Amino acid sequence: MKRIMPFIAAVLFAASPALAQDSEGQGSRTPADWDVHDRDRPRPAVVSPATASVGNTVGQPPSDAIVLFGGAADGLSGWEHFNGDPAGWKVADGYFEVVPRTGGIRTRQGFGDVQLHVEWSAPSPPDGEDQDRGNSGVFLMNAYEVQVLDSYENDTYPDGQAAALYGQYPPLVNAMSAPGEWNAYDIVFRRPRFDEDGALVSPAYVTVFHNGVLVQNHEEMTGPSGHRSRPPYEAHADRLPISLQDHDHPVRFRNIWLRELE
Ligand code: MG
Repeated sequence: MKRIMPFIAAVLFAASPALAQDSEGQGSRTPADWDVHDRDRPRPAVVSPATASVGNTVGQPPSDAIVLFGGAADGLSGWEHFNGDPAGWKVADGYFEVVPRTGGIRTRQGFGDVQLHVEWSAPSPPDGEDQDRGNSGVFLMNAYEVQVLDSYENDTYPDGQAAALYGQYPPLVNAMSAPGEWNAYDIVFRRPRFDEDGALVSPAYVTVFHNGVLVQNHEEMTGPSGHRSRPPYEAHADRLPISLQDHDHPVRFRNIWLRELE
């Protein structure tokens, strides 16, 4: 999180009056609210693009991203153990690794609607089979899981393979990299909405690209992820931590960033 503040400060102090105005938003997104080609329409904010990771060279987040793990220098300062202790996973050069049976970790900050980028690598050489091989998970709002699993020549139930919305939607295709190589997930998550009485107003929607390939296309989640169950929605806060699962396997993660969409 330490990297956020310098960026925000840079934007605030470097922005011209026109750009500062733009950063306040675009107003209505409804075409009917604007004449076609209306030159009075607010300009989108300028963002330096993300760059892709290639092999062991890690890409750069876009300039407006919140960086959740940028490398060893930052450590896991933005994360904590589920019980509130410091995250105990191993931080190495450019990545961190699940330390089996130490428990999952979650972001210290809560998030709702996000664009989330996560890179991960399954253990090499592979060990185990089915669900017992390179298993972890990315949980939006600590509840809605995009499965992490070594699905490279490793069969399992389809709604539990890599990039599945666990227990609900298999990925459209299997775009898995080999063990030891890096995978990228680009996730667009729209959180569920609840009314004041806790009734569901709109469900969660999830889109996922796995290594640049569309694998989940705006899928409507039936509720939180469950093992051998599909639990119903239960009202929860608008912002909750993103968490990573300890499933007893030394899965590696790197280059984790998000952009808030609300
Ligand atoms: Mg999992």
